Amino acid sequence: MTDQASTAATRAETARLPSYLDAANPGPWGMFLEQLDRVEPHLGPLARWMDTMRRPKRALIVDVPIEMDDGRIVHFEGYRVQHNLSRGPGKGGVRFHPGVTLPEVMALAGWMTVKNAAVNLPYGGAKGGIRVDPKLLTPGELERMTRRYTSEIGLVIGPDRDIPAPDVNTGEQTMAWMMDTYSINQGSTQPGVVTGKPVSLGGSLGRRDATGRGCYVVAREAMRRIGLPMEGARIAIQGFGNVGNAAARVFAAAGAKVVAVLDVGGGIHCEAGIDPQALVEHLQGKREPITSFPGVEPITADEFWATDCEVLLPAALEGQITAANAGLIRAKLVVEGANGPTTPAAEDMLHSRGCLVLPDVLANAGGVTVSYFEWVQNASSFFWTEDDINARLDRVLSEAFAAIWAIGQERGINLRTAAFVTACTRVLQARALRGLYP
Ligand code: NAD
Repeated sequence: MTDQASTAATRAETARLPSYLDAANPGPWGMFLEQLDRVEPHLGPLARWMDTMRRPKRALIVDVPIEMDDGRIVHFEGYRVQHNLSRGPGKGGVRFHPGVTLPEVMALAGWMTVKNAAVNLPYGGAKGGIRVDPKLLTPGELERMTRRYTSEIGLVIGPDRDIPAPDVNTGEQTMAWMMDTYSINQGSTQPGVVTGKPVSLGGSLGRRDATGRGCYVVAREAMRRIGLPMEGARIAIQGFGNVGNAAARVFAAAGAKVVAVLDVGGGIHCEAGIDPQALVEHLQGKREPITSFPGVEPITADEFWATDCEVLLPAALEGQITAANAGLIRAKLVVEGANGPTTPAAEDMLHSRGCLVLPDVLANAGGVTVSYFEWVQNASSFFWTEDDINARLDRVLSEAFAAIWAIGQERGINLRTAAFVTACTRVLQARALRGLYP
């Protein structure tokens, strides 16, 4: 039985297993529940409210029918989950991926609740997605699917209700279509309904690189405390998309050296360092695998995880570092650019070997922090400079890191548990103050 499966089986015995959780394969939602279980003993009297976190407030499943270019009518399944709205409107991305399921979106929404509260943004947590491989759609099909999905979830989103943003396989164009569709349905332009828009439509400067920049800021703060110099630090990155490539560029600009990259098309290694900007330019507009980049040696996934490096940055999908490959990892610091990349059992293995894990709810909070700045700018129609945005992002994340680090040190708990304690305390205090209705 896997580590996740045994926890889920125990949970099933206590009859708390919701209908949508498969005990044999608990997946990301099972992982989220296990993380909550680890936090509950640290919450004192607020633990009374903890089941609030174990159930999403609202989960909407929508049918998304579109006409394909060849005349067929095809139906996709879409979701929008609002996990918790105690501290403000829902906030979280939209993912287009064939592996998207309701429990996955629930977990991602739960992590957004925790992340937004951990860095003290005035939001609840939400997430959305469509079960689709967008690479198989033409641009016209993709636009029709995005617009129909937006119209269907229009019941629950809005600038004061729930504000989507980009995630895996969605980006500025997706957000432009979503903003336009919602605005048409409302009868007025509503830029604040989504973040991560193009700058020309009310998007924020600095949003594109914000998640990767945030990974760098929290890594820098952690490295200062554990005595790891940034200059010359070797970094290995899984996933060279929005988060991975921005992180690679920001780390490299700060003197670190990207020595390995793993993406769907394969892995590459170069001890002298890979120029991330050159790699971005090499891949732009091409369907070639990453291994076609000149001057590097191809490596397998196992070789990637075993890379001799100081920093490992998973920036692809959840469940990538498991009990099966955690033993290979030699990095001193794991920075979770992706959401949920490390299973709880793998995290325990890493910690017992002295490897520090910077949890997703803190490490990748840069994206939603600048999304918050975008939403504030939209509400006031007054736009800030990129320097302002980067400086404010640095301050929000450094302060959040310092507070969470201090809780970890005081209570002798790891950083994920410390981040969850900080976040759950804020969410459950708000829940308790607002009270139950009726
Ligand atoms: P993306 O689609 O831009 O990039 C993902 C990259 O990972 C792609 O290059 C893809 O080829 C690669 N990939 C996918 N599966 C892989 C695998 N099994 N092995 C190796 N590489 C693989 O997505 P993104 O926006 O960069 O998001 C990546 C992760 O970061 C997700 O977990 C997402 O939820 C999280 N995240 C994103 C943001 C954001 O602002 N975009 C913010 C916070 C967290």
